[in-house]
Amino acid sequence: MAPDRADTRALLLRLWRDWLPPHRRTLWLVAAAALCTSGLTALYPIVIERAYALLTARDERVLWLLPPAVVVVVALKGAAQYAQSVLINGVVLRVIEALQNRMFAHLLDADLARLQPEAPGRLVARFTADATLIRESLTKATSAVADSVTVVALAATMIWLDWVLSLFALALYPIAAIPIIRIGRALRRQSRGMVERLGDVTATVAETFGGVRMVKAYGLEPWARARAATAFGQLREDITTLVKGRARIDPVLEFLGGVAVAMVIAFAGWRITVGGGSVGQFTGFVAAMLIAARPVRALGSLNAALQEGLAGLARVFAVLDETPRIANAQGAAALAPGPGRVEFRDVAFRYAGSDAAALNGVSLVVPEGATVALVGPSGAGKTTLLALLPRLHDATGGAVLVDGQDVRGVTLESLRGAMALVSQDVTLFDATVAENIRFGRETATDAEVEAAARAAAAHDFISALPQAYATRVGDRGETLSGGQRQRVALARALLRDPRILLLDEATSALDTENEALVKAAIGRLRQGRTTLVIAHRLSTVREADLIAVLEAGRVVETGTHAELLAADGAYARLCRAQYFVEAEAA
Ligand code: ADP
Repeated sequence: MAPDRADTRALLLRLWRDWLPPHRRTLWLVAAAALCTSGLTALYPIVIERAYALLTARDERVLWLLPPAVVVVVALKGAAQYAQSVLINGVVLRVIEALQNRMFAHLLDADLARLQPEAPGRLVARFTADATLIRESLTKATSAVADSVTVVALAATMIWLDWVLSLFALALYPIAAIPIIRIGRALRRQSRGMVERLGDVTATVAETFGGVRMVKAYGLEPWARARAATAFGQLREDITTLVKGRARIDPVLEFLGGVAVAMVIAFAGWRITVGGGSVGQFTGFVAAMLIAARPVRALGSLNAALQEGLAGLARVFAVLDETPRIANAQGAAALAPGPGRVEFRDVAFRYAGSDAAALNGVSLVVPEGATVALVGPSGAGKTTLLALLPRLHDATGGAVLVDGQDVRGVTLESLRGAMALVSQDVTLFDATVAENIRFGRETATDAEVEAAARAAAAHDFISALPQAYATRVGDRGETLSGGQRQRVALARALLRDPRILLLDEATSALDTENEALVKAAIGRLRQGRTTLVIAHRLSTVREADLIAVLEAGRVVETGTHAELLAADGAYARLCRAQYFVEAEAA
């Protein structure tokens, strides 16, 4: 119980300190509006008591004074309520927006090792489901704070009308707190489950439709349907539990409120029979109690609503609290200019949670301007080795150096700015062709973009597109062919004009025409640059200055094509096993 409450307080305090300061002024306005609403609500029972008194006295003021007074009170209260609601929502939505922005930026900066194992759908849930929970709960919580002012004002009215009855009634309210707190705690737990399930559903749907070609081609529809049905079913079950918990609150409060009214009536009735209190006071008092029922109920469900929102807030804060391990070291300087010499010095790497080392004692020097072809069976560690250069992962042993500088000692921007990565699964974004190329260098002019496209043999096909460079490529570049996507990616890399080029060659052969164009573009891109290429083509390894053969995380052989063939070792075995895609047709 104690940690839970401390937790609640810590979360609210953090929200108040870190996220609400820009909105303090609006919050004051909310408070003012809430005070108006409460004050006017508390006037009601007094108006009723007056009416009762005037009626019994047959005073005619009941006709011309009271009705307009009631209308004015209601109108003012309505206006104050409207202002309160609009202002609260404005603040809450802005806080959510700020949280979303910060979380998005934070996750973008997170380590690949953190992001890769997580299904994107689960990340999406942080932004959608959690944001909704937080929004609902904060809105409810702020209006509940306003309600508590109303309750206090009504309590003052009650005391003014009849203090003995008030003491009796107020003593009953705290009893209601116990079941409410207990339900709230359960709801917090259940809302956590619900958001996780929502993440599952998003992940399942996104994955299915993301891979819809495979689903259809392999007739996986029944499997996909069954998997989605399981996710939907679990979501329903979780929401049902949550809704049941929420549904318990109102009846419990209603019942407790009824019991309180009954006890007050009994007590007041007994008192009037023995000659204490007036009927007018009693009428006003019961009116106050009935009016208080709604805000008290809202206060009662506040805890539950708050707990659900806090569960979301805790998850969002947990994301914000993760510190990426791959970040600029303190005092990191920009990568000093250099010719682009790369050295792996006794490098070891192990993926988190994996038993076997992906790389083990890799030492390799790539002289400036040279091309090194990395070859070896699948799982040998080629991709991992390449990922260490732009620091997508950090080596767990040894060092990676660019022009004599440890990559961990220079700024990430300068390091990554000195490299271009072109991989076989080309990633284009749903933007125009020109924008996709310009990702290589944001400041490039239109002329430079076009020059890069020409060099990448992409200009002709781009010009033939409906809107040429302004054509949108669709989700992941769906509207372009594989070879076209590759050439756009090559233009992007050319525009970047990197010191070091990291290539991951396509394992599948493109059609002959594309093949020739892509090859020519790569040739231009490689000119004068240090190149590390995960090679799958015989032509590439033949032309490489050096071939490094990897096996099980080690470099087992280095040399040129001719040398390694003559040595008749691992490389010769790969050639005999027809490891390389023959692309000599072009
Ligand atoms: P290659 O590119 O030569 O096929 P990789 O560098 O992709 O090899 O993989 C090297 C080893 O690391 C393999 O044993 C692979 O299973 C493992 N591995 C790759 N990526 C991950 C990952 N994200 N988490 C855990 N292990 C991984």
